[in-house]
Amino acid sequence: MDCTVLKFNHCGRKIYSFDKNMRQTENTGRKCPICQEQMRFSLLEAPVIVPCPFSNGHKVRCAFLIGSSLGPAFLSEWQDSELHVGVTNSQGVVYSYTSSGVQREEQGWEQCLCVPLVAPGTSGGSLAGILWDSELEQFSRFPTWSQHRFEEEREFGSCCYGFALSFLNQLRRAEGRESVTRDDFTQQHVLPHVKTASKYITVYQEIHQQGFYVADL
Ligand SMILES: [Zn+2]
Repeated sequence: MDCTVLKFNHCGRKIYSFDKNMRQTENTGRKCPICQEQMRFSLLEAPVIVPCPFSNGHKVRCAFLIGSSLGPAFLSEWQDSELHVGVTNSQGVVYSYTSSGVQREEQGWEQCLCVPLVAPGTSGGSLAGILWDSELEQFSRFPTWSQHRFEEEREFGSCCYGFALSFLNQLRRAEGRESVTRDDFTQQHVLPHVKTASKYITVYQEIHQQGFYVADL
């Protein structure tokens, strides 16, 4: 999903197209894919870029990541079986729990959904980053996350999610805060990202097939 999606209004509709599709018609004049009329935009109605909901997880420090080994297009459904979650340290290394134990990956999470766990700025100090990293490393060494216990953990929901959420809760308890339940965290932090991604994926796939996507204004 590498194309840039543009959004503009024309003939009473909200129209989405790829940046590259729009550029192809630049010489002949841009025609509206719906009414076929030549399009002229004033400054205010110029096409705007629809922000891509996927980020490079290796560039987001101290975050909760949701990815799919099948590619970002599979992030539209909240299905445990197809999704994999992890936590980044301050250097962009992604820690995730798999059937081979805890993985530390420096690549593979280039297009995923990112939920920042620490408000920007508060983790700015290098000390906070170092603490976070050592906590995460220590946490990953707990026997709970050994590969032998992967199936055992699975009974309590997906293992990778349990790993990430338990780490988050350990930090919260250390700060004297209450732990967050899996349901609450999913509702408040995960689902909003998945919903935005789902919509983007629908629009993207339609443009890919039809050349554009139309919504009523
Ligand atoms: Zn039109």
